[in-house]
Amino acid sequence: MEVQAPLYQSYWQGREIDLNNYRELLFILHDQLNLQVFPQEVWQRSPVIVFVESFAYASFLPHHQMKLAFILSCQRHYAIELLQEGYKVLTVTTAGFHSDGLEALLVKFPHLSLSYMQPNEWETRVKMQALRAKFPHRVHCFPNNFFLADVEKFRGKINRSYRLENFYREMRKQTGYLMVEGKPIGGKWNYDKDNRKSLPKHITIPPLTTFTPDAITQEVIAQVQTYCGHHFGKLDRFFWAVTRRQALQLAMEFMDKRLPNFGPYEDAIKTGEPFLFHSVLSPYLNNGLLLPGELCQMALDRYHNGLAPLNSVEGFIRQIIGWREYMRVYYEAQMPAVRNANHFGFTYTLPQLFWDGKTELKCLADAMHNVINLGYSHHIQRLMVLSNFSNLTLTNPIELHHWFWLAYVDAYEWVELPNVLGMSTYADGGVLASKPYIAGGNYIHKMSNCCRQCPYDVQQKTGEKACPFNYLYWHFVDRFRNDFKENGRVSLMVSMYDQKSVTEKQEIQRWAVNFIENLPRYKSLLT
Ligand code: SF4
Repeated sequence: MEVQAPLYQSYWQGREIDLNNYRELLFILHDQLNLQVFPQEVWQRSPVIVFVESFAYASFLPHHQMKLAFILSCQRHYAIELLQEGYKVLTVTTAGFHSDGLEALLVKFPHLSLSYMQPNEWETRVKMQALRAKFPHRVHCFPNNFFLADVEKFRGKINRSYRLENFYREMRKQTGYLMVEGKPIGGKWNYDKDNRKSLPKHITIPPLTTFTPDAITQEVIAQVQTYCGHHFGKLDRFFWAVTRRQALQLAMEFMDKRLPNFGPYEDAIKTGEPFLFHSVLSPYLNNGLLLPGELCQMALDRYHNGLAPLNSVEGFIRQIIGWREYMRVYYEAQMPAVRNANHFGFTYTLPQLFWDGKTELKCLADAMHNVINLGYSHHIQRLMVLSNFSNLTLTNPIELHHWFWLAYVDAYEWVELPNVLGMSTYADGGVLASKPYIAGGNYIHKMSNCCRQCPYDVQQKTGEKACPFNYLYWHFVDRFRNDFKENGRVSLMVSMYDQKSVTEKQEIQRWAVNFIENLPRYKSLLT
């Protein structure tokens, strides 16, 4: 049933709830929108369910307007669904953080106790712990149930010799996904080698279903534009699902129409095609509307019914029980120290183009167009284009981390920080990845159609018209050669650089240094 605006209006101020008649509150965060995951003994006691709309959380970074509208709309829709199911629901608005709004409630109603699930993000967790310290007998925290991996089992294993592949195999054994008699179905754990195809010219890409904003979302959009209209990004084309029912519809659509081609083309880029064969389900997975186990089960069903090939299903499941869970365990093990990780000591702020999207470099322009307009780009644009460019231009990875956090609809610190400071920038010095993610123009050319539409020439290595990724790449390899010597793949690149002529090396250095020093930069996000 669609939620009606008048109902929303009636609950909105919480007018009909007299908290003097209740004893217990249950706080649900905006990224924990699934009551079924909460312990039954908590919600079966019929607490008043409390949502908080925190202006401080919305504005501690200039979060993308699309992201704020998505978060708020999903939360409001979920609050109304719970109300329709018979729960008592209250929304608190606060200029402060979530804990500030809750504290005001606890002070005003001294007979109330409050339960909450361990927050996914560090700062919210710290603030809730402080609240618990203020009201030790009234505030209770229970463990976070939104993930499949047991953090305590893996926390101590996170180090240089324990990579994703080790973790993933343990998770495959734990879940039994794609396993038969203790061995991986098909005989291999990983089908990545089959999954790096460039996109054929005439392949049909199924369109993504979009949703027209209803009255609730329209109201949220107006509020975001009023209070956060100066934030990053555009909000004139809101299209995201905002309820579990809609998110499930998208999940089914992905499984039926895009999963079979997800694997082979997961590393491809096509200009003007922001979604390709990706699931685009991460926003719903990361706010609780969809659960990791149910998505894996849907993909497994497609495989076992012969509707999707093993390489695609394995690739999708690896993203969820491998990569996503690994990010979370890494975050739990490395926080808070990893927040300040900057292995190479880069000090440049972000390129201006990360804010306005203005650049002639076609691969970057296309990725930025998606981020600004949708609050989204698929993972290979995040990695191969945006993170790569940030690395090659010696940008402070902590600036990049904050930018990804604010710019993407699906970005929460627990998942975004490990991807940026661990995976793409090597800022943690190699705890998560064996090397920083860098690539020259040739690899972007191989995996995309961008170069054909670019005023720069991907074949030229130096010069006015040369693709900047080319000389920036070799400059990086040379400058940070000590970090690559031990790494098989990149140590080869160091040898290749050394074989270049003196003149060629001088040209590479000249063009790279000139590019980096003259790149327009944005003000720091860290001040
Ligand atoms: Fe990007 Fe270089 Fe290709 Fe242009 S030529 S699209 S800058 S990789």
